[in-house]
Amino acid sequence: MKIISYFTLSCVLLFTACQADQNTATSSPIALKTDFDVKPINAEATKQVSKKIDTINNMETPHAAFTPDYIMGKFTPKEHTDFVLIEKEHSARAGMYLRKDAYAAFKKMATAAKAAGINFKIISATRNFASQKGIWEGKWTGKRLLSDGQNAAKAIPDPATRALKILEYSSMPGTSRHHWGTDIDINNLNNSYFEKGKGLQEYNWLVANAASYGFCQPYTPKGEAREHGYNEEKWHWSYKPVASQLTTAAKQILRDQDIKGFEGSDTAEEIGVIEKYVLGISQDCL
Ligand SMILES: [Zn+2]
Repeated sequence: MKIISYFTLSCVLLFTACQADQNTATSSPIALKTDFDVKPINAEATKQVSKKIDTINNMETPHAAFTPDYIMGKFTPKEHTDFVLIEKEHSARAGMYLRKDAYAAFKKMATAAKAAGINFKIISATRNFASQKGIWEGKWTGKRLLSDGQNAAKAIPDPATRALKILEYSSMPGTSRHHWGTDIDINNLNNSYFEKGKGLQEYNWLVANAASYGFCQPYTPKGEAREHGYNEEKWHWSYKPVASQLTTAAKQILRDQDIKGFEGSDTAEEIGVIEKYVLGISQDCL
């Protein structure tokens, strides 16, 4: 009874969190403190990004600031206190943003690479829902050609087939790791660039050293080790200390039905976009 009373009281105070956590909470009062340790979205919360461990079921609990809207990129990076403008020195174009923690780690990595004669420029960083919607719908309607030069709207009338073709390299709005401020594209958007000469040197350096700075490559070659998801992207690197928490949060919170608000979104459920694409990443990034 004591447990139930505490739970009921907590529910009155924090009614939104109770529904999802009811089972855990009623089975153990200790879980209440961990589950309801909600922090506001501010710089202080960002500093405390360290992983919280749910001692009851030994599952990682995502950071409380990672709301569904954050995970789906429904915010403006420029106005978000956890984000910072990427300096000219590190960017291929102006106006790109990253999370402060991810950018600080990137700067350390770039400095170390420079000492080895390697230059890294970020060519794409945070893209919010609206920005990804522009890319996706451009490809969906044929206004923007696919990477193989095809016009998807003309060449692929079947919606699910068209979506799967676009999904070889582009995310549906709401499902991109670029929403998170933890992911960057470096130097070139073609795998072939990283397979010879200067590009190969850069890639080999990343494979050998990026993990020391917290970065991993989520889209490794598809095969036994990574069955589903986007094709290989040698240019896309992810700041794992934060991105792994966001992956956990996405797995727990997002459902295919939530992926909507753009042309072709009806295919998300049939494709299983959360399971296959959001979670279809290299084990190294988990
Ligand atoms: Zn990317």
